Amino acid sequence: MKIKKLITTIAIGVGLVAPIFNGNRTQVVEAASINSIAKQNSYVGVTFLYKMLQTQNIKYNKFYANGNKIKYRKGKPEGIVIHETATPGASAYNEAIYFNREWQNMYSYVHAFVDSKQVIQMMTPNYGVWGAGAIANNRFIQIELCQETTRNKFAKSVNNDAIYAAKLLHRYGITPVHASNTGKGTIWSHHAVSRFLGGTNHTDPDGYFSKWGYSMNDFFDLLKYYYDLQAGETVTSNVPDDNTTTDDTSNDETTNTDPVSQAPTGKRTLMHDAYTYNAQGQRTAAALKTAGTVVTVAQEKVINGKKYLQIGENEYVVASNIVGSNRVLTHNAYIYNTTGIRVGTTKLLKGKTVRTYGGRINIGGKMYYPIDTNRFVKVANFN
Ligand SMILES: [Zn+2]
Repeated sequence: MKIKKLITTIAIGVGLVAPIFNGNRTQVVEAASINSIAKQNSYVGVTFLYKMLQTQNIKYNKFYANGNKIKYRKGKPEGIVIHETATPGASAYNEAIYFNREWQNMYSYVHAFVDSKQVIQMMTPNYGVWGAGAIANNRFIQIELCQETTRNKFAKSVNNDAIYAAKLLHRYGITPVHASNTGKGTIWSHHAVSRFLGGTNHTDPDGYFSKWGYSMNDFFDLLKYYYDLQAGETVTSNVPDDNTTTDDTSNDETTNTDPVSQAPTGKRTLMHDAYTYNAQGQRTAAALKTAGTVVTVAQEKVINGKKYLQIGENEYVVASNIVGSNRVLTHNAYIYNTTGIRVGTTKLLKGKTVRTYGGRINIGGKMYYPIDTNRFVKVANFN
């Protein structure tokens, strides 16, 4: 991180020397209660930065574009580095906006910012970031915890942090082993990276944690608790990329029971990630447009027997990405979010007609239909 941030970290660290000697006994009691407060909170889920920015018309400055891809040395992440921002008063939202705007100037980027209210994933963890020096950057996922001002909010924030990290471990098939004390394992504090691997000299999150009578050991316990809990869940606990894998919608018109009847024109939202096609129905080289993108539809056009909507000069998207198709549920169905996590306990009942958008989407190995930009129902429930 920036020099300024480093200085702040040291200042906080020094300021905390006194409270640390309050006695081990007190610390243990407090630490235990942070985790028990944490567990009383539900997870906030993941907010994807690029989607968040879309709603505010802010440009997403993609970190891993244009040759700036940091490939992991073993092809996938080997573990997770836990950071703390050392920036009092800055929420995950503040940090996300700031890093999106400034990363090219400050040579720093991470995979996610977490606070008591949000987990904002900045980019896919499939590639590395600039978070903890040259040795760690092509090995680990990097997550920043933001500072909170009350004990309850702190507990909430570490709860979100631990659940998110545990999901990532499952996603990449990583076993949680605490590395901060030994230099060997999969869960690292930034401090441990500085100590055992080098290439960086920060000591977070230790100083901030100890302010709350908390430690990396406590955090690891919480993470391990959720990792084990998630292992027993039937629902996939994967956290997808910011680019959810998607079928090419052009191959998925066979079950369309509600052919597009009226052409929607004007500003419309893509309900499914969509490729663009030319007037001959050939896919263009333009980047995939993600669900949630607002486009202006000029007209409907049938190309090779299939309905498209024109969104630019010689630029079309498959109509079902915007207007959807009605499908009848053959089973009661739960609703899932972009991470494949069930949203509440609301059940859509068997026999109900549901409007789905575009083709099937693979989330964590299971196939879903979008019913909204960030809500999904399993394809199996329509068979
Ligand atoms: Zn750090």
